Amino acid sequence: MTPVYLALGSNLDDPAMQLHAALVELAALPHCRIVAASSAYRSAAIGPGNQADYLNAVLMLNTSLSAVELLSATQAIEIKRGRVRSERWAARTLDIDILLFGDEIINTTTLQVPHPRMAERNFVLYPLAEIANHKMVLPSMGVLGSLLAKCPRGDLVKTNVSLRNLADSK
Ligand code: AMP
Repeated sequence: MTPVYLALGSNLDDPAMQLHAALVELAALPHCRIVAASSAYRSAAIGPGNQADYLNAVLMLNTSLSAVELLSATQAIEIKRGRVRSERWAARTLDIDILLFGDEIINTTTLQVPHPRMAERNFVLYPLAEIANHKMVLPSMGVLGSLLAKCPRGDLVKTNVSLRNLADSK
């Protein structure tokens, strides 16, 4: 089983419900077991126009799927949740990114792992740090605690929406 970290994000159609739904769908995937889930964090959207705030969270799961199989499964969940791929940074019902896949470094046209922008995203690093050891090494990026120290918290707010209880019941 490979330990995997996934980032979830939503700013459309009841983001808290979308994150819960994503967790339920991910828990139901074959060969996947959710191990931990962070709280949901709120932050202002960085995309175009006047978008609603984002809710983001990070999950850890163990899987015997390959990274490519997991990507197809997460993309199928995004589509099921009504994700329409439009312009970059556009509002979205559900975005699921593979942050880390064990200690693999993957650089193909469809999949880059570790996720190339994760070290600069407070809405990824802070929820990740809630469920991962700060001494964890992100392949090619460095130690989580050091990355966190260099990433301002900004307007990120930890909410009382927790996916953990739901994850524990799986
Ligand atoms: P986004 O619009 O941010 O959801 O990006 C989706 C695209 O990013 C898809 O076409 C994926 O093939 C690609 N992609 C590359 N690396 C990753 C990753 N680590 N996790 C999820 N999608 C990825």
